[in-house]
Order: sequence, then structure tokens, then C-alpha cells
Amino acid sequence: MTFAFDNSYVRDLPGTYLRQPPDVAPAPQLLVLNRRLAADLGLEITEAEAQAWFSGAAVPVGAEPVALAYAGHQFGGFSPQLGDGRAHLLGEVLGPDGRRWDIQLKGSGRTPFSRGGDGKAAVAPMLREYLISEAMAALGVPTTRSLAVVATGEEVAREVGLPGAVLARVAASHLRVGTFQFFAARGETAQVKALADYAMARHYPELGGAEQPYLAFFEAVIGRQAALIAGWMGLGFVHGVMNTDNMAISGETIDYGPCAFMEGYAPETVFSSIDRTGRYAYENQPVILGWNLARLAEALLPLFDADGERAVDLANAALEGIAGRYRAAWLAVMRGKLGLAGEDAGDGALVDDLLAAMAGADWTLTFRRLGDEAALRPLFADFTAMAAWLPRWRARTDAGSLARMAAVNPAVIPRNHQVEAALAAATAGDLAPFEALLAAVQAPFAEREGFMLPAPTGFGPYVTFCGT
Ligand code: AMP
Ligand code: MG
Repeated sequence: MTFAFDNSYVRDLPGTYLRQPPDVAPAPQLLVLNRRLAADLGLEITEAEAQAWFSGAAVPVGAEPVALAYAGHQFGGFSPQLGDGRAHLLGEVLGPDGRRWDIQLKGSGRTPFSRGGDGKAAVAPMLREYLISEAMAALGVPTTRSLAVVATGEEVAREVGLPGAVLARVAASHLRVGTFQFFAARGETAQVKALADYAMARHYPELGGAEQPYLAFFEAVIGRQAALIAGWMGLGFVHGVMNTDNMAISGETIDYGPCAFMEGYAPETVFSSIDRTGRYAYENQPVILGWNLARLAEALLPLFDADGERAVDLANAALEGIAGRYRAAWLAVMRGKLGLAGEDAGDGALVDDLLAAMAGADWTLTFRRLGDEAALRPLFADFTAMAAWLPRWRARTDAGSLARMAAVNPAVIPRNHQVEAALAAATAGDLAPFEALLAAVQAPFAEREGFMLPAPTGFGPYVTFCGT
């Protein structure tokens, strides 16, 4: 069948993208197709169609492939022009519930934004994004989704030659903080306003009648981003490259590069090989949340008020609220993880004291095993502080706590050693370990033998590399 494309971005936002067809893959081979997601989107699609459309071998009727313009602060330094250097937005589809989704190809060839890059991607990082984003979705965190990975039959030149692949990604949209920055940096206030109007209509339609619509929009983005980062923190997820071009206005996790899940609890955890200062360390993610939102505020300033000083005051008032709003979102996540009964003024201290007690203990299994002291003990080198903490926690629980906890604390996360083994096998042509791991992370609250334990000693320290 064909997709019922309805391409509002291309229609409503001229000047924010460049038309560019994806490269034609010479020998596409479908590696993985997300039938469940396709069905949820109302896309009936055969394997042959998926293989052709999601590799760039053929462009489906109604698609209008474009590369989007955006800028971004990368590790704190501003790049006025990034943009889709290896991605093509095919268009938008409306699901059965009327929700609008971007269908994007990643690794699909050069665009006018490619700078020195080849526009390509290798099999392993594309399967990695597929695996981790589907895990995040199953864990209940807002995220872009993955529809397919197709090997192109081409070799991509990295340190060694690697098999190439294209990822088909589904997103609420690809509007980023950096999209606003691109036009703000050029002084194109009319485009910033057009983007804000579009983003509001698409992602925050409830704000339509607000008295100060752009301020309300900014506050709403703060709310979604604070909830998102709180969700990451609850899962021990380290995104690894929280540049402003990797922060989606919709509030979804986007651009899975050097991300990974923390195993032993260590707030300073960094996985990315290029993050030498720990800017995007686990514990720093809430700080960067505020930093990135300040950059968004700067881009939106002219929309807040015609009077520059007054606009800055309004932005600052909103920015000052972020820390409190984040802390509240995080505390809500942690209360859920601990299965607490209602709310108590001492809950913040209860959580803080748990964190102090669990240094080095496996983040995921500690929460999963809190109700079973015999299973919990072996996770700790020294159980003294936990032994003192447990009675305080039990006093805040009720008969339903353990059942609630089992529904929010995963048994299965993508364990780093298993991700690496699955991707190495897939690169060598064997997809079986990837498929087994994918099935496990798609049902993360079910106990599954063989997928629950941290890396054996001797694995690591774990280092990840940007999605090259
Ligand atoms: P990322 O680190 O994936 O978020 O990408 C940051 C920027 O680099 C974006 O503008 C990408 O489009 C661009 N980029 C990353 N890899 C490539 C590549 N192989 N070819 C061209 N552009 C790339
Ligand atoms: Mg990016």
C-alpha cells in the first residue's frame, strides 16, 4: 500500500529545510522491521516495501524528502549551522488516532548540511539506536521510535570499513532547540515565530488561547523536558550528548548516539569517549537541562515581549522555576520507584539517603530487589547503610507497594556487554543475539533469565562512541 503522507512541515515552514532525495542503496537488505509500531501507525507494509522505502532505494508516493536546518550548542560551543547532514525527512503520516508522526531516514546520504561528513551510517550504530529507543519506549519514557533498519549493501569508511545501514525513525517531530537557534542567530524573528506557532499547534495545542502564548509554550517545554530528564535519571540512562540540537521540542528522547545505562550507581558516570570533562555525566543531566532551556529562552526572547528588558525578566522568571520543577518531577519518579504510599515531607531525604547508601550497587537491580533482602545483599560491597535505611523505607510502604514497584522498576535493561555482543554479531552477519536482546528489552518488567545481570567483572570501563 502507500502511505497517506501529509507534510505539514514542508508546507507551513518554507525556508527551514532543503529538498534533497536520499541516496539509492545499491543492495538493500532488511535487517529488522517493527511490525507492531507500523500497525500502531496504521501502516500496512510488506517486507519488500520496507526494504525499498526505508533504505532510500525507492521513495514512497507522497513523500517529499528534505533535510532540516538547525544549529546547536555542542559541548557548550555554538555551531550556527548543523542541520540534517545524514538524514532525510520523508514526510508525515497521521496515525489512526489522528496523531502526526515524522518518518525520517538516518544514514541515507549526503545533504547540503553534511559539511565534511559522508552522510552515511554503519549497521551497528543504527541497530543500537533501534534497540535502545525501543527499550526506552517499553520503559515508558517519551522517545523517538524505530521502524526499521536496512543494510544498504555499501561499505562505509570508518577506522575500518563497515557495513552501511539506514535507520527509519518515527518521531513526534524533529523540531529541536537548535532549530530555533538557527533562525534566532540569523536575526530572523519571523521564522522563529513561525516555528513557535507550528510547534505549539503540533505539540501543545492546549496553549492556543493563552494570554502570553510564547511564554506558555516555553513553560510547557520546560515541563516536558523536566519530566523527560527525571525519567532518564530514574532508569540510570545517560544520553551522552545533550547538545541543544539533540533536545526535541516535543519532549521526546532523540538522537541515540553514545548513550548507555549505568550499572553500578556512580553519579559521575560518563560513557562517551568524547565527553572528557563529564559535561553530560549522569548527575549533570539535570544541570544541562537548565542550560539548554536557557538557550531556547534566548532564541524565543523577541516573542516574549517587544521590550527587550521585559522579555529578559520574563525568561529569567521561567528559568528560575526549572530547578524546582525538575526536583518535583524527579521526586515523583523516585516515589514511584520506591512504591511509597502517598507523599511525605521526608521523602526527599529518604531518597537522598538511599543514594548515599547505594554507591557502586547495581542501579536497576537495587530497586528491583528492595523487597527481598536476601537477593539485595549481594549487590552491596557493604550493606551497613542499607540495613539502616531499609526500615525507614518499609515504614513508608503499604500492601500494594511491591506490585507497583514491579511495574516501574525494570528487570531488564539493555546491559552494555550484551548490547556490544549483539552489535558485533550483527556486524558479522548474525542477527540472532540482537533479536533475542530486542525481545527481552521490549518486555522490560518481565524477569528473563540471561538478561538481568550486570556485565561480568573484567568488562569495562565501558566506552561508547558517537553515532559515526
Ligand atoms: P549527531 O552527533 O548525530 O547528533 O550529529 C551532529 C551533527 O553532525 C548533525 O548535524 C549531523 O547531521 C552531523 N553528522 C553526523 N554524522 C554525519 C555523517 N556521517 N555525515 C554527515 N553529517 C553527519
Ligand atoms: Mg543530533
